[in-house]
Amino acid sequence: MIVIIGSGAGGGILAYELSKSGIPVTVIDKGPYIETKEGIQHYDKYNDSLDLLTTTCVGGSTIVSMANMVRALDKELNPYGIDLTEEYDYVERLIDVHELDDSHIGKGSKLFLDSAKELGLNVSKMPKAVYEEKCVQCGLCALGCPVDAKWTSKLFIDKTIENGAELIDNAEDIEILTENNHVIGVRLVKDGEELTLKSDKVVLAAGAVNSPLYLRKLGIENAGRRLFFDPFITMGGVLKGIGFNSEVQMSGLVVGDNFVLSPHFSSFIKDKLNDNTLNNEDILSIMVKTPDEGKGYITDDGDVIKENTITDARYLAEGCAVAGMILEKSGVDVNTIKSTVYRGAHPGGSAAIGEIVDSNLETDIEGLFVADASVLPVSPGKPPILTILALSKRLADYLKNRN
Ligand SMILES: Cc1cc2nc3c(=O)[nH]c(=O)nc-3n(C[C@H](O)[C@H](O)[C@H](O)COP(=O)(O)OP(=O)(O)OC[C@H]3O[C@@H](n4cnc5c(N)ncnc54)[C@H](O)[C@@H]3O)c2cc1C
Repeated sequence: MIVIIGSGAGGGILAYELSKSGIPVTVIDKGPYIETKEGIQHYDKYNDSLDLLTTTCVGGSTIVSMANMVRALDKELNPYGIDLTEEYDYVERLIDVHELDDSHIGKGSKLFLDSAKELGLNVSKMPKAVYEEKCVQCGLCALGCPVDAKWTSKLFIDKTIENGAELIDNAEDIEILTENNHVIGVRLVKDGEELTLKSDKVVLAAGAVNSPLYLRKLGIENAGRRLFFDPFITMGGVLKGIGFNSEVQMSGLVVGDNFVLSPHFSSFIKDKLNDNTLNNEDILSIMVKTPDEGKGYITDDGDVIKENTITDARYLAEGCAVAGMILEKSGVDVNTIKSTVYRGAHPGGSAAIGEIVDSNLETDIEGLFVADASVLPVSPGKPPILTILALSKRLADYLKNRN
């Protein structure tokens, strides 16, 4: 049996692929099994100076993701002998990655695409795993889709259970057991009862903030001493009656040298304008996201500390300047432009390939693997789910052959 700890982007596909091949799997998650629309209630809280977005629940952060699916890190994974071309092809087919049909590109998103094109920017529609036939265009993707119209890892977990595997959610006091530097199982508490699962293969997929803490407890001291996440802000202003708040979010993408831009609604923009004649329908806004240098780290009690470097500020300034031009060209009143606070998404790199795990994602402890954003060697500066899925699919194939 293979035990997988965590059921988000990394854990879900691994469980699905292994169970589909008849390999016994148990998935353990600290979070509860929820309906996707309840995602908003499961965001994690870090310290007061950090607004880092992650969730703890079955499906992990994919529950609240925008289902943007972009290939990344081809060159960066090459030195480790990793070529994900076949895995990308497979995963894109499996979850049906495609550009949204024009019927699902709203007025505000179209203004973003058209204005960016007129400005000569490198703009395209965002590849997504959003399913038009179900999508009601409510704009609530990041709260948890109310009609399950996007791919989430929970879909893989549901299929894994259909394939006969066990899911233990709401697990407490999870501990990986080792003997003579080999994995021998996992101990946990479920509903007040202690359970011990025997296994010579355990895969950690508890996300980039949590997986390193398990590794440190096992003596892999360097885990989590480095962490990146992608800094972002959302900036926007008033464009009366645009109705952008109820469009499919992030359906366009501008790729700059040091930033990406995407149309993204934030209610904080309206709140900052202090004008009670305004509604959410009157705001057009853009997310500015930059790649990170990996100057963060995780404390022993699981908090995240992140230095903002002078380069972070430079990249954000470059992105904001271009976003401002798109907003102006789209007809936004420039006197109303406001920004959210600095936030973070996509934590990764805390158990990187070449540092903590090898090219097969195995640690120095035999039989202990990591399959989540922790293993990414550098920040993709782009949505990372597709890369995590492809790496986990590759690990599934490796484990099938090693079993
Ligand atoms: C609002 C939002 C929108 C996003 N949109 C996109 C997007 O459109 N495209 C994209 O590519 N990326 C997006 N991301 C980022 C993406 O969701 C994450 O990068 C990705 O899910 C990380 O995968 P993971 O497997 O490392 O972690 P997760 O998917 O977060 O999974 C971690 C799992 O571990 C569980 N867990 C947590 N703590 C423990 C513990 N101590 N023990 C056991 N289990 C534990 C969690 O419950 C969860 O099941 C978004 C993120 C957010 C927050």
